[in-house]
Amino acid sequence: MKILAVSDQIVERLYSTNVRENYPDVRMIIGCGDLPYTYLEFLVTVLNIPMFYVPGNHDPRHDLDNRSRAEGGFNLDMSVAYSQGLLLAGLGGSIVYHPNSPNQYSQEQMYRRAMQLLPTIWWNQLKYGRKLDLLITHSPAYGIHDDDDPAHQGLKALNWLIRMARPRYMLHGHTIFYRQNIQPHFTTYYDTEIINIYPSRILEINP
Ligand SMILES: [Zn+2]
Repeated sequence: MKILAVSDQIVERLYSTNVRENYPDVRMIIGCGDLPYTYLEFLVTVLNIPMFYVPGNHDPRHDLDNRSRAEGGFNLDMSVAYSQGLLLAGLGGSIVYHPNSPNQYSQEQMYRRAMQLLPTIWWNQLKYGRKLDLLITHSPAYGIHDDDDPAHQGLKALNWLIRMARPRYMLHGHTIFYRQNIQPHFTTYYDTEIINIYPSRILEINP
């Protein structure tokens, strides 16, 4: 199954009325954060397929008013979902670098958020025989595709959650490496392939 994953930057080739002709066999959209919700709404409207996304540190605080969510998509932050044979879980946000800003968390706060996913993930193991297929985040995990400046340090809770849930893939954004040829975008960590989505990728994943 083909998945279109997007993050951090608008891709003109996608933000076009030709997107349906260009990607006729995509079956799911994943948003890894820091994108205008109008862009996500455009993609879900034109492609007319399920969309799951998490907020990034530049996105508004989530509440139920229209401007803080992408209409037609499912905000997967702190949630677990089952769609088209895939088990998904999401954790939005980044490490805190401006206190009291939305979607920014200390390492400790992120551990508490990650722990809240565990009961449902363990329930998946009982119900489906596996805990998780896709972990969708905005931030990278600690030490994997992250950077050493205060805004781009990875979250240790994500390393922990990967070890607990053993997803097949973790998709993230947030770290934008302009020297793409020397920065890895794919890293295997335990049983999980971690992929930096910035700015977009088509992934072929078997349900
Ligand atoms: Zn970000």
